[in-house]
Amino acid sequence: MFVAKRIRSFIVVLMVLVLFTCQNPFVTLANPTSTANLSFDFHNHAFHGQKTGFNHWVNTYMVSTHTPHHNGYDMIFSKNDLQYIDAKFQYGDFRKDLEDEWISIYTWTFSDPQPAWKYLGRALTDSDGRIHYVLPKNLNVGVHLVKLFVEGDGTEANMYIQVLDKTSKYVVFDIDGTLTTDDFENIKAYASELWNGSYQPKAYNHAVDVVRFYAEQGYDILYLSARPYWLSEKTQTWLVQKGFPRGMIHTYEGSEILSGSGAITYKLNYLKSIISKGVQIDYAYGNAESDISAYYGAGLTGDRIFIIGENAGLQNTTPIRTYGEHLLKLKQ
Ligand SMILES: [Mg+2]
Repeated sequence: MFVAKRIRSFIVVLMVLVLFTCQNPFVTLANPTSTANLSFDFHNHAFHGQKTGFNHWVNTYMVSTHTPHHNGYDMIFSKNDLQYIDAKFQYGDFRKDLEDEWISIYTWTFSDPQPAWKYLGRALTDSDGRIHYVLPKNLNVGVHLVKLFVEGDGTEANMYIQVLDKTSKYVVFDIDGTLTTDDFENIKAYASELWNGSYQPKAYNHAVDVVRFYAEQGYDILYLSARPYWLSEKTQTWLVQKGFPRGMIHTYEGSEILSGSGAITYKLNYLKSIISKGVQIDYAYGNAESDISAYYGAGLTGDRIFIIGENAGLQNTTPIRTYGEHLLKLKQ
């Protein structure tokens, strides 16, 4: 009896000690790099690629006068999928394709105890400036940063690959009119300004904080936009510059501007495809009727579909008046 009492009081003391340690501001138990890990970081400090010059003089001339606009497309694979990389390399305002030049491919695996760049192989761009590279060996389960290095001039694109072996909880965000204050579907001129201009779409106040809130809770983030492929590089740059947390970006593979039923089909098909790979969509944010249809189609209920702007609350979705107000509710 006495021994049991001693053990009980020992456990109580131990629990108090644990509680005290957790709350003691002078004892850092949390991983201090956790916030940094949530941001887009292409680990350029650790990367040392060697540029070797182009195969063709015409490309040498082109890059000396034009800005690179390269992009790799983020991919979600289930464990047994054949893994591949798709990317496109272009320069200048008219997006001249980089033809018949070598791209070196490197990976950075976040789950490695000591992550470092690893060389995977190389691929030659085709007449459309694209590479389609099947990985020689599948990457492990987890998230990988992939750097696509143009051997000719040392420019690059960065993309992510996530390999799933179990359910992964995601929150989905549309971009235009949802994170930005302008709606791509309604303002077509916005696209042409984005294309070449120095125009920087404005983000809604506290939109970044809402996305970060989920990332900090351990959710994976998907930025799902019907923007055409030629805006995918601008999309990644904008998210990085505005300080949005790291996430998978998916834009439309085609070149035209989708709206209405085209946008629904595109978004719904993509959501279904990643759900079949193990993605579980817990919440989704949008502004358009096409977002609402796609999110309902993917199996979400109205209390998990958050809509901002003129369609807020439509079809029994949950309206958002401001992200500041919404964030306070999320934190309750
Ligand atoms: Mg939108």
